[in-house]
Amino acid sequence: MARRPPPLSPSAVLPFLLLQILLPACLLVARGEPNRGAPRLTPIDLDLYHSSARLMEEIKALAHRHPDKLTMNNFRSGNRGYRAELAVVTYCRNVREINDKSKFRILLSFGQHGRELITSEVALRILSILTEEQFLPNVDSVSLNSFLDKLIIKVVPMENVNGRRLVEAGDLCERRNGRGVDLNRNWSVDWGKKEKDYDPYEENPGTGPFSEPESQIMRKLATSFNPHIWVNVHSGMEALFMPYDHKNTTPLGLPSTRMTLLLKELNVLHCQNRCMIGSGGGSVGYLAHGTATDYMYDIARVPMAFTFEIYGDGAASPKDCFKMFNPTDISTYNRVLSDWSAAFFTIFKHGPRYLDEIHLKDSRPSSWESMDEYLEGYLMDRSSRYGKKMEVLDFGMQEIRTYFRLFLLSFVLLMFMFCSRISKSKLSRPVVPSVPV
Ligand SMILES: [Zn+2]
Repeated sequence: MARRPPPLSPSAVLPFLLLQILLPACLLVARGEPNRGAPRLTPIDLDLYHSSARLMEEIKALAHRHPDKLTMNNFRSGNRGYRAELAVVTYCRNVREINDKSKFRILLSFGQHGRELITSEVALRILSILTEEQFLPNVDSVSLNSFLDKLIIKVVPMENVNGRRLVEAGDLCERRNGRGVDLNRNWSVDWGKKEKDYDPYEENPGTGPFSEPESQIMRKLATSFNPHIWVNVHSGMEALFMPYDHKNTTPLGLPSTRMTLLLKELNVLHCQNRCMIGSGGGSVGYLAHGTATDYMYDIARVPMAFTFEIYGDGAASPKDCFKMFNPTDISTYNRVLSDWSAAFFTIFKHGPRYLDEIHLKDSRPSSWESMDEYLEGYLMDRSSRYGKKMEVLDFGMQEIRTYFRLFLLSFVLLMFMFCSRISKSKLSRPVVPSVPV
């Protein structure tokens, strides 16, 4: 028979009471969780949506069934105890031509924000159409293949896998990665600048440019692939954005004109003219610093760089994130998938034509770097450019929150030890004889 613990004295119970009352309350404040009594939130509808695991399994199976067209690679990176893995699917109609540098290159990323599940569903639909397991209405495969022959398309179906898992575990408003950093604020163009309405729960930029493994992998991918077109696919509204996000202007000259013309064509054909068009910073109502699209345009020199916002429910409660960022009925879900997969095929068809008149690519390096070569270069570059300085100078909200929790725990533990001491000394205080023995 196990020995029962002795009953606790009232003074020893106090720290436990403190622990039970203070800790959950403080953690709630620190995590920014909603109060009790909030309206019921729309859950993820798993009849409509794939779980992250099932979606990636389907894409893997697709690549397995079509090795002549699709190749799938996984890239891993990590630092300070945090690891991330990204799957990249490469489409080339004839896989033997996958390194043909004369082809037109398109890089698409989906699911950079965890709560925007619909975007990864669009990625799966595009890959299904590319492998001819699904079809676009009114498009025959002969004309489709004639322009797909000229392309290499890389698709990142789920950029933020760790953040997406948090969403699936019930944190439906989470948009950041698995350690609380917004992957669309972690790039180096105008990194770290905070607007007056800065909200760390939404926009924590990390401890420095490219502090996050996901952004590091994406940067390596962009540099090694050297795309002509980049599209970062999001949800929350209906919009077709071009640079810049960090200021309310668009770039000057012909590249800007061409991007605008392509977006206008997409708006007419696939968004029934509902989509907002223009620079992200000038159209969305706030400036965003350290975004992927600004980096792709300004630093990686991708001639056509876009951010698409493919769906938003403006009438949903701001706390009802699944509803706000994702269609919740089957007809809207199907409509979004059809409209936006068709929009991407318009890009595949007309993108090269728009770029014919832009010769920006001429001045770029002609050879591709391998991911490994780039990684080595990146790490050397990072230590010399940012070094330790950047790491220690910028304590983001994530760190502050961690220290706050540590402080709180230490306080409760100290209280516990202090109270235990008092109770112990009361219970076992020896009777001191008046006469030494
Ligand atoms: Zn987003």
